[in-house]
Amino acid sequence: NLAKKQERDLMFYDPRALNETDHSIELWQEMQKALDADHFYLVFQPLFDLKDNALISAEVLIRWEHPEKGFISPAQFIPLAEQSGLISRLDAWVLEAAAKQIRNWLDRQLTPPRIAVNLSGISFLRPDFIETLTTIFGKYDVSLDHIELELTEGVLIDDLDRISNQLNSIRATGVSISIDDFGTGYSSLSRIKNLAIDNIKIDRSFIDDLDTCQQDLKIVEAIILMAHGLNLSVIAEGVETQEQLSILRQQGCDTVQGFFLSRPLKAEPFEELLEQDLVIEVD
Ligand code: C2E
Ligand code: MG
Ligand code: MG
Ligand code: MG
Repeated sequence: NLAKKQERDLMFYDPRALNETDHSIELWQEMQKALDADHFYLVFQPLFDLKDNALISAEVLIRWEHPEKGFISPAQFIPLAEQSGLISRLDAWVLEAAAKQIRNWLDRQLTPPRIAVNLSGISFLRPDFIETLTTIFGKYDVSLDHIELELTEGVLIDDLDRISNQLNSIRATGVSISIDDFGTGYSSLSRIKNLAIDNIKIDRSFIDDLDTCQQDLKIVEAIILMAHGLNLSVIAEGVETQEQLSILRQQGCDTVQGFFLSRPLKAEPFEELLEQDLVIEVD
């Protein structure tokens, strides 16, 4: 069972747990060094509320600038960190960097929007996760209602009681929860109907061809209707064109995110958006 396996994986900080290619082991060692040397940083991708077209939140995405190899994608190193047990350290690093950044914005009266942090299922299921979370945010005196946690749909497959309890405890701290990459896992809305979650994020793969593919159009429409029926807010990710945006607006989608609205930004350009009271141009 997956939860048990993940628990077991936590015991190891061991490169032998990796699918051994020399490349993975090397990257695993480099990741540890990078954590120590602070070669990771965060970027922020704005999310816009379609009711008033305003910036409503921002998703934090981790970036790794390797001194020799250059930019390494999280799509490459996050799975590796998950296999090797390094992920909890990495997730804690991201949470701390986010808390530090929010504190900095608050001190400078730059009213930050809600900040969404991606969290691996392994970190989420750790019995000490809530303590880690409250300790980190307590250290910077940032209240937990500033953040949202994004969990991929895949996390929900296993052991529904355990997941449900953990979600309730996390929600009780003031954090909101989004289900990321919705539609790609084996979950369904009927399965999540009793879980303490706030938003679902429709996976990018359904948005890509929204303007040309009738099936995708119908799937997205159905997800929005059912989610609203369950009192969940809907976020569409990977919005790249005006046509996709218009369709999502017509379908009653609540929030949008994607390159058409804004690329992920480093802290400084993101702060410029905060100062501008940015809104989407209405079509
Ligand atoms: P995700 O959480 O679904 O994040 C969205 C990904 O889509 C990001 O890629 C983002 O840059 C990209 N994206 C956003 N808008 C568009 C668009 O319009 N078009 C296209 N083609 N792509 C778009 P990124 O940053 O490479 O992250 C990939 C995945 O890595 C994330 O998927 C997430 O699962 C994971 N990840 C990223 N940062 C973290 C982190 O700090 N912690 C953990 N645990 N996972 C992370
Ligand atoms: Mg995400
Ligand atoms: Mg996603
Ligand atoms: Mg994704």
